[in-house]
Amino acid sequence: MSIHTQLNTIYFDYAATTPLDARVLTAMQPYFLHEFGNSSSVHGYGQRAEAALENAREMIATALNARADEIIFTSGGSESDNLALRGTAFARRKLGYTHIIVNHGEHHAVSHTAQQLADEFGFEVSYAPLNRDGQVTPEAVAACLRPNTALVSVMYANNEIGSINPIAEIGALCRARGIPLHTDAVQAAAWLPIDVNALNVDLLSLGAHKFYGPKGVGALYVRKGTPLLPMQTGGSQERGRRAGTHNIPYIVGMAHALHYAQAERAARTAHVIALRNDLIGSVLETIPNAQLSGHPQERLPNHASFVFENADGNFLLALLDTAGFACSSGSACKTGSPEPSEVLTALGLPRAWALGSLRVTLGTASTPAEVRALAAALPNLVQKARR
Ligand SMILES: *Cc1c(COP(=O)(O)O)cnc(C)c1O
Repeated sequence: MSIHTQLNTIYFDYAATTPLDARVLTAMQPYFLHEFGNSSSVHGYGQRAEAALENAREMIATALNARADEIIFTSGGSESDNLALRGTAFARRKLGYTHIIVNHGEHHAVSHTAQQLADEFGFEVSYAPLNRDGQVTPEAVAACLRPNTALVSVMYANNEIGSINPIAEIGALCRARGIPLHTDAVQAAAWLPIDVNALNVDLLSLGAHKFYGPKGVGALYVRKGTPLLPMQTGGSQERGRRAGTHNIPYIVGMAHALHYAQAERAARTAHVIALRNDLIGSVLETIPNAQLSGHPQERLPNHASFVFENADGNFLLALLDTAGFACSSGSACKTGSPEPSEVLTALGLPRAWALGSLRVTLGTASTPAEVRALAAALPNLVQKARR
């Protein structure tokens, strides 16, 4: 059993959040204690806080192949997504651009922000469709483009079904028309290369707790020259783009966590992908009327997601929890909601399949024994969850 096993329950929900890396905690600790200065203060305490802040900014910029002044620290992935959409939409509206393109796979931090811009602020929103594998194709985005498109937002990898989108190609398409492209890389940053130049993106969201950093801190990359109206006004922190005293320990933690995630990416991926493939093989072999959801190959290496025909997904999660497995349905819907997930519906899955979803996400501490235990327990539990 791994260190992440508590109450005899094995953790299989690393897409929801990850534990803090002990090395990251060590890097953060001084900034909770004696190194407590405000990075805006003139004296030595402030200078040391500012040095830690700017070092963290350099580390994150390096991981992204970006410039330090293109990084804005935020309170997490949700705030980064909100700032990217609203900030760009309001800045570009002044120039007559009032149309936004999102898609049916986005996290609510993007889709609900886009919907609010439509409902309350007069923007028009187009939703690009997903293909059968849960991907947004460049063609689907191209079909939505209009002369007044202010912004395109396409997530790098989907949190619910794991599918990876062709961001570089979509970026090339947007670049040719001068339209900023935002990508939500909150899931992807733990596992995939995040070079903003190779990806052709203008804005990119990160959230530290998805890659073994602390909860409540994130970053938004904004390419130099991309118009952005600040959403939080006050002090001149972050070059006036996001006011508020910096959370130095968390920012330091995020920088270290991202550094380790990217430096150790190949080894981490090799570890989880083998376990993940074993699990997928076992489930599809031992459980009748089961399907993998999302792309079979172009998916996050730690991510397995399934639908089981005529199964009650929420009941299955409860059965799994009782049996000692902490999994997810993959959707943001809370237990008790009878509605199938928007993403699974967008894949064209009938209701009888979409209601029986299961997401299993692995982490660096996952073991073959843990995966074997889950694979052995699932056939019976799915059978019980079928009406
Ligand atoms: C978790 C997540 C978010 C939200 O990030 P928080 O840091 O929890 O606010 C946004 N997008 C995706 C794809 C996520 O997985």
